[in-house]
Amino acid sequence: MKLFIYVTMLALVGTCSNKNFKAKIEDAKKSVKIEKSDILIKYINTIDSNQLKTHLYKYASDEFEGRATGSEGQRKAAEFIANYYKAKNISSPIKGSSYFQTVPASYLGSKYNKSENVLAYIEGAEKPEEVVIISSHLDHEGIDKNGKIYYGADDDGSGTVAMMEMAEAFKLATDEGYRPKRSILFLHVTAEEIGLQGSRYYTENPVFDLDKTVANLNIDMIGRVDDYHKFNKDYVYLIGSDRLSTQLHYLSEHVNTMYFNINLDYKYNRRNESNRYYYRSDHYNFAKNNIPVIFYFNGEHEDYHQITDTPDKIDYQLLQRRTKLIFATAWELANRDERIIVDKADN
Ligand SMILES: [Zn+2]
Repeated sequence: MKLFIYVTMLALVGTCSNKNFKAKIEDAKKSVKIEKSDILIKYINTIDSNQLKTHLYKYASDEFEGRATGSEGQRKAAEFIANYYKAKNISSPIKGSSYFQTVPASYLGSKYNKSENVLAYIEGAEKPEEVVIISSHLDHEGIDKNGKIYYGADDDGSGTVAMMEMAEAFKLATDEGYRPKRSILFLHVTAEEIGLQGSRYYTENPVFDLDKTVANLNIDMIGRVDDYHKFNKDYVYLIGSDRLSTQLHYLSEHVNTMYFNINLDYKYNRRNESNRYYYRSDHYNFAKNNIPVIFYFNGEHEDYHQITDTPDKIDYQLLQRRTKLIFATAWELANRDERIIVDKADN
């Protein structure tokens, strides 16, 4: 008898709070409004699979020797990215004309030479001090003991070239009178493969105040398909979107529903997920500083961290589609009237 009452009361409490919870979610969902924009569609459509392919065949070529942190090949890769921004007339937020943020050797440990992050940006029209950061890592694993190159086409050549295309689209919009309200920082970080050091260095030496950093959209591997999605490849894993900001999560969802309808897979966003991807790429250095993040990822595949991660294995149509999704999400984050708020503790 006692037990029964206890259970009944529990059941009641459960029903009530559940209802409350649902109502709250509905409110949060509705509070994030997106309006369909022909202007945005125009710039989404400038993101081009052929250009992604051209850039990636260069970036994941012999020339950059697998881009090991602090190596000559990595330095050349950083220069290649900086030269791209220079040629596109997209400036650097670093004082002077340099696109490089040097990460000192002492910071990286005794095995490594100094290295560099590459930073380019589009200055916001109305709130230039507020910034949306798009990031990917420029380094990879270098050369193996037999002299074979780790090309890292997917990891993270795919994120690198996606950013180059997005920057070009934002620049074109700016030149045509649609400068974003907030600034967009294109942050190519080094030393990811040796423990997220480049992004850690940036967050400890930020160019924009961290409390003015609206969100970080981090890309690490978006050009391939994993085993789970072989027969339904129009997907991408999103990790972290709901951990700090309910608004970020729904903004991201609404952008996808309105323009793309890609299958956003949250499998790896589960807490205590055994792969711990949430902690394994550069967005985590932002998340731990209470900055809302989304990590975009295609999952692992047979060429992950192998010398066979080559550009011929990339699905360029899929890379284009995922790049468009991230571009549109960044556009909305940068252009909405009120910046998204942090309303949750990440625990
Ligand atoms: Zn990676």
